[in-house]
Amino acid sequence: MSKQRALIIGGSIGGLFAANWLRKIGWDVTVFERVGDDLASRGAGIGTHDELRAVIDRLGLPVDDIGVWVERRICLERDGRVSHRLATAQLQSSWARVYRLLKDAFPAADYHFGMALERVEQDAGGVTAIFVDGARARGDLLVGADGVRSTVRGCLLPEAQPRYAGYVAWRGIVDESTFVSPEERELFGLYTMAFPEGEMILCYPVPGRDNDSRPGHRGYNHIWYRPTDFDTTLRDISTDVAGHCHGISIPPPLIRPDVVARIKADAHRLLAPQIAAIVERTGQLFYQAIFDLESPSLALGRVVLLGDAAFVARPHVGVGVTKAAMDAECLALEIQAAAGDLDAALARYDRARRLFGTRIVERARRLGAYIEAQLKPPGQRTEAEKQPSPEYLMREIGTVNLDIHALTA
Ligand SMILES: Cc1cc2nc3c(=O)[nH]c(=O)nc-3n(C[C@H](O)[C@H](O)[C@H](O)COP(=O)(O)OP(=O)(O)OC[C@H]3O[C@@H](n4cnc5c(N)ncnc54)[C@H](O)[C@@H]3O)c2cc1C
Repeated sequence: MSKQRALIIGGSIGGLFAANWLRKIGWDVTVFERVGDDLASRGAGIGTHDELRAVIDRLGLPVDDIGVWVERRICLERDGRVSHRLATAQLQSSWARVYRLLKDAFPAADYHFGMALERVEQDAGGVTAIFVDGARARGDLLVGADGVRSTVRGCLLPEAQPRYAGYVAWRGIVDESTFVSPEERELFGLYTMAFPEGEMILCYPVPGRDNDSRPGHRGYNHIWYRPTDFDTTLRDISTDVAGHCHGISIPPPLIRPDVVARIKADAHRLLAPQIAAIVERTGQLFYQAIFDLESPSLALGRVVLLGDAAFVARPHVGVGVTKAAMDAECLALEIQAAAGDLDAALARYDRARRLFGTRIVERARRLGAYIEAQLKPPGQRTEAEKQPSPEYLMREIGTVNLDIHALTA
């Protein structure tokens, strides 16, 4: 029997997990990525969960070197004092590190850059991907791993739209070499949090340039969640010096200097001096608007949705990459177990991953509710929108204690 063929739309982390897993169970797999060249320059730190390492391990890839272990969390007051401490070990990685591992494991000849999907057609014999340049590809299964603005989802479930959460995450990475004094060296080894009213900032070490995890060569990642109204402020920070508004996200080098200066000034006004100094010396600050997304179905005929194309949970649970890995493994193992009954396998994938997606989106929404509520007058905020205690947030944010299995059961 000839091999079954999967078309993967989107060659980022979700697409690459799916590609490697389907290849592992014997499928012929081709990846189509809209962007024209290697994605590894996308720089951002990510928290990980044990399940991410377990999935990578079961895929047969090396997991030893994907990040930097952090043993302790601290919370800093505005005046720089440590208000809370929590001993908890977690591996912090970077988007680029995981991407590199997965990309290098997959045959380059079967990965096509510069291929933007336009639409999908299905018939009794399979599925056809039609690309913007007119090219077509035919397969037994098409995996939509094309992110929160998924074209695949747009074709099949146009009603499933991302919903803006009312805040953005300002982000950046600072080289370890800039942490010079003994106090800064100590801070570098810690997962540092602060919770100014209605906001949240998290800082932790991650692999550095070229995914280097060696001491001295790492980076310190920070993510600062700030309420940002959609119509005025988000529009303003997305507008470049020439007055062109880039929608909800602007290429980082085009963020106006006055916007960056304002963020840095706010850092000195609102954050502990140690954290403000890190924000101040960040070479390239950038932001990402935060969304929730829930798809009502993950399998439609011979098309499945996976990763951020399927569900987006706010990053407070730090689980997007882990979820994409688990989606991909579940898809491949259900297909393998169904021994030829692809429809049954896709139905089981849909049920299992939709349950997990729904629960994790809800959990993340609860953790960010107090930031979202800042755009309402204080009198209109509900009990669930009050700012939780630092102890609670320190325990729950991007937590290693997250019981992923309970969310799936
Ligand atoms: C502020 C922030 C912090 C985060 N922190 C964490 C964390 O700590 N831990 C964690 O696990 N996750 C975190 N995440 C989430 C994580 O980054 C995502 O869940 C993950 O990258 C999703 O991967 P994906 O492959 O599903 O989607 P994406 O990475 O969005 O990839 C989609 C790909 O599809 C391509 N594409 C789009 N349209 C088309 C088309 N029409 N044709 C072909 N290709 C197309 C795109 O170019 C892109 O490469 C965070 C996210 C944010 C915003």
